Parts: sequence; structure tokens; C-alpha cells
Amino acid sequence: MTENNQDKNQQEEVSLYEKIISRTEELLGDRRKSLDEALKRAGEEFTSAGHFTREQAEKVSSFIKRDIQHTVDNAEKGRETVKQAVAPKRVVVGAHSFFSKILSNTAETLSGWATKTEQHLEFKTGEVTSPGSLTCKNCGEVIHLKSTAKIPPCPKCHQSVYRKSY
Ligand SMILES: [Zn+2]
Repeated sequence: MTENNQDKNQQEEVSLYEKIISRTEELLGDRRKSLDEALKRAGEEFTSAGHFTREQAEKVSSFIKRDIQHTVDNAEKGRETVKQAVAPKRVVVGAHSFFSKILSNTAETLSGWATKTEQHLEFKTGEVTSPGSLTCKNCGEVIHLKSTAKIPPCPKCHQSVYRKSY
């Protein structure tokens, strides 16, 4: 794959992440679907429209699921922290608005999203994630993502595993 193609591919994944989230949000509003069902349906819609491959949709959906899990885990650990992080006074657009809504949603929507606080979710270079702060597990360097983005290598030590906070 050439560098240009790789760039294009990365932008596509970021854009697909935003699109699936936005469609999932719509599906959740329309009907009484669970979050899991809405997410799956949204991914399928973009695949069948032919703009994205099934592989891309599944990959991006897995990033979204991880971010939802991370949001739910944080909510259990300390509601206040997450509430502050996604409070309306902050710029609530796109992914932020989605994760904010998830937290205010009914238990029904969140069924199946049990907290797994003992399991530490990892965020790796090359994956797409919603805005937040990523701390390098190797050197402690912190990078701040202001919008949904592909995770870069650590700018300091060039390692690729992070933990995330808001
Ligand atoms: Zn580092």
C-alpha cells in the first residue's frame, strides 16, 4: 500500500467512525433498539451502501464498542468525572454528544454492557477513538485528542500502547 492510499484509508476509518456513531444515535432515537443492535445495524447499512467494506465496518465498530465500554466503565468508577467530561458546557458535538447520551440512557439500552473495570482497556496506535487524553503506558507521555482521530505513535518514545482518560 502506498503512503497516499494509507492516508486515505485512515481518513476513511475516522469518517466511518463518525458516520456509524451518528447513524447509531438515529436508530436509538427511532425505535427501542438496544445499543448493540443499533450499532450492528448502522455498520450493516454502510456496508450494503457499498461505500465501505464489511472489513472496515467491523473494524471501526470494534473501536466504537471499545470506546463505549470505556465510557461505561468510567461511569461506574466515578459518575462525576464522566459527567464533567461530557457535560453540556463543553463542546458537545459528534462523538462527545453520543457518549454523553449513552450515559443518560436507560439501563435497557445499555443491557449487555456490563462494566469490566478489572479489565484494562488498551488503546493502540493505528486505532480510531473518540476525543480524550491518551497516556503512553511506556513513558507516561500524554496526548490530547480534540476530535475523533487515528491514534498516533507516542511522540516521545514511539511506543504504541496507551490508556485513556477524559
Ligand atoms: Zn511514550
